Amino acid sequence: MLNIRIKVPYLTPAMMGIDLERADRGLADDLRIVPTGTARGLSQLVLRTDIAGMPLEWIDYKEAARLYHQEQVAYTCGSPLFELYGGVNARTGRRTVLEINSIVATVGHTGNPGNTRHDYVPPLNNQTLFRRDAYLCMYCSLRFASRELSRDHIRPFSQGGLDVWTNVVTACRRCNNQKASRTPEQAKMQLIAVPFTPTYAEYIFLKGRRVLADQMEYLLAHFPRSSPLHDRIQRWLS
Ligand SMILES: [Zn+2]
Repeated sequence: MLNIRIKVPYLTPAMMGIDLERADRGLADDLRIVPTGTARGLSQLVLRTDIAGMPLEWIDYKEAARLYHQEQVAYTCGSPLFELYGGVNARTGRRTVLEINSIVATVGHTGNPGNTRHDYVPPLNNQTLFRRDAYLCMYCSLRFASRELSRDHIRPFSQGGLDVWTNVVTACRRCNNQKASRTPEQAKMQLIAVPFTPTYAEYIFLKGRRVLADQMEYLLAHFPRSSPLHDRIQRWLS
């Protein structure tokens, strides 16, 4: 049985003040970006990448420990999150300590090849949709909690619209009701942003529950330069 100690690393100034909890307080389902130093608790997930550094998935500390033990971790980035204490080595008399970082680059394969495909389309669900749109209603531009938001089909089903990323936006219930089964033009309502299909790296970010500042910076570097998320994340953080 391993003992686990949660490490609280030193906070660099760049990591300070990045805290979405203020905006999202009380909204357990909403995405949070937190300073690395507040990564307390074993529920904090580790970002796994492939050997080339492309983001793959979120894994828990047990899965991370398994990858370390199987020598599948090629190198690490980010900051130390956990220290796992193992048994005492009979030969050296030393206790084995495994330090797990917030980002681990691994050899070997993953079940999902999405990170290498340019035509990858992530599954569409409300949680990641609301996050793509930064919890803003794309009609009235006000921010809401997840429970007050809905998925609006820009071109409605009844007019041949599809349930795909480029035809859906986040809308508050009021705007969605007002728009009803009409296109924005028919309802004389204007979208504040163009909907887009997230890339794999963007999708990994949007799926995160508590994203550490260093993990966020890492993922941001893998977003397309033109990604609207750059701007939206900056607005969240300001
Ligand atoms: Zn609205």
